[in-house]
Amino acid sequence: MDYLQNNYNQVKARISHAEKRFHRSPASVSLLAVSKTKPIEMVNALAETGQKAFGENYLQEALEKIAQRPDLEWHFIGPIQSNKTKPIAEHFDWVESVDRLKIAQRLSDQRPSVKPALNILLQVNISQEDSKSGFLPDEVLLVAQQISKLPGLVIRGLMAIPKAETEFEQQRSAFKQMQTLFKQLQSELDSDQIDTLSMGMSADLEAAIAEGSTQVRIGTDLFGARL
Ligand SMILES: *Cc1c(COP(=O)(O)O)cnc(C)c1O
Repeated sequence: MDYLQNNYNQVKARISHAEKRFHRSPASVSLLAVSKTKPIEMVNALAETGQKAFGENYLQEALEKIAQRPDLEWHFIGPIQSNKTKPIAEHFDWVESVDRLKIAQRLSDQRPSVKPALNILLQVNISQEDSKSGFLPDEVLLVAQQISKLPGLVIRGLMAIPKAETEFEQQRSAFKQMQTLFKQLQSELDSDQIDTLSMGMSADLEAAIAEGSTQVRIGTDLFGARL
């Protein structure tokens, strides 16, 4: 799968180019490879290039992949139904799409005590779209205080999927609001573990990096279009 190696090199080059252009430290932006709908062979091929962190949206599909590659780092990034929290709490390393207090409580209760606390990001509906899940920008700081007390979880930061825009400056403005919220979260929660601002996908990773993203989530430009 030579084209995968090629795509990977191109995405890595885009990330490091954006880091330079926007005066970010080298290697301050990590890559989450979004492998949803793609076969385990593609995950294996990308893992061979050195990629360790993979993102999945669909639980059943993800559990099959995790069983085959428990050595990789798995992030759940899709909508969460409350009756599906147990396998998520048991099998993932990170959950980036926590969007309700109740979901956080269930994940905390169901996290196996033999595992480290589950890393979570609070998803923010930054463009306030009815079609998207996530906390509203003006509620996320308060709910973060409550979630930070749950013993099975550790809040690592925020995640967002802004409204799709084609103009760079318009893409940038939603990411800028996220950066402001992220800084508020860092100062309000007495924790030095708030280190992850997950934003930027194939079409807008440069604008996200310009506004402080620490993790871009890339599917299409790594693995090709999804059917
Ligand atoms: C599918 C998905 C991505 C990847 O999007 P691409 O445009 O294919 O890079 C990133 N984040 C989330 C939450 C997704 O569901």
